[in-house]
Amino acid sequence: MIALSAIEKRFGSTTVLHGVDLAIPEGRVTALIGPSGSGKSTLLRCVNLLEVPQAGTLTLGDLRLTFRPDNPPARRAVLAVRRQTGMVFQNFQLFPHRTVLENVTEGLVTVARWPQARARARALELLERVDLAHKASDWPASLSGGQQQRVAIARALAPSPRLLLCDEPTSALDPGLAAEVVDVLAGLAGEGMTMLMATHDLRLARRVADRVVFLEGGTIVEQGPAADLFGRPGDPRTRRFIRTLL
Ligand code: ADP
Ligand code: MG
Repeated sequence: MIALSAIEKRFGSTTVLHGVDLAIPEGRVTALIGPSGSGKSTLLRCVNLLEVPQAGTLTLGDLRLTFRPDNPPARRAVLAVRRQTGMVFQNFQLFPHRTVLENVTEGLVTVARWPQARARARALELLERVDLAHKASDWPASLSGGQQQRVAIARALAPSPRLLLCDEPTSALDPGLAAEVVDVLAGLAGEGMTMLMATHDLRLARRVADRVVFLEGGTIVEQGPAADLFGRPGDPRTRRFIRTLL
């Protein structure tokens, strides 16, 4: 089970997440939509503890962390959460001075302490899967944006996370290159990867999302099966927002 309960996140005196409750069904894709500034990135970052909430509970399988303002989670808990959550960013965030292969092995070797040979074999298997094994020795800068994002997906999958978090994975890409990334994400969804993705890309959301969550002002306004939310949103705010995506 993966769930957030009563998650609150403040930056200084600004509250960005107002007690968010969200169950993330395993083996399914949950799309997070909402206006710019509604807290989508912050919510994703709270799930893998790039941001630490001031209150609430995160459940990730057997891991259960309860946040308090004055009591940051232990380093060991943070590492355990990171190990179970891969993150794909809008702007890829590959290591520029590492080859494509090294981008994928880096975390396995330095964080998970895998032997080089095993990390290399795992990385090649993942690069094969995103159709980039032939680019293993290249530098990220020599790749197209779509290829870079596919490397970033391979890197995020390397430690076999329980949950893949994607923050607007196609929004920095031209439509043609976005399509390559949508294909890869749809393939993962078909294999039963659990995902939580923030996106404005209706083509992506319609193709891969099982559930859709609409966030506005740090509060979940409405959530439900993708067909219902896109087809007949119940809340006028959802309806208005979805119209802006069309
Ligand atoms: P979204 O991804 O939906 O566009 P964000 O989660 O990036 O929204 O931002 C939500 C709000 O939190 C915005 O008002 C943003 O300015 C604020 N915010 C995000 N990160 C920080 C930060 N590190 N420090 C201060 N404010 C932040
Ligand atoms: Mg964002």
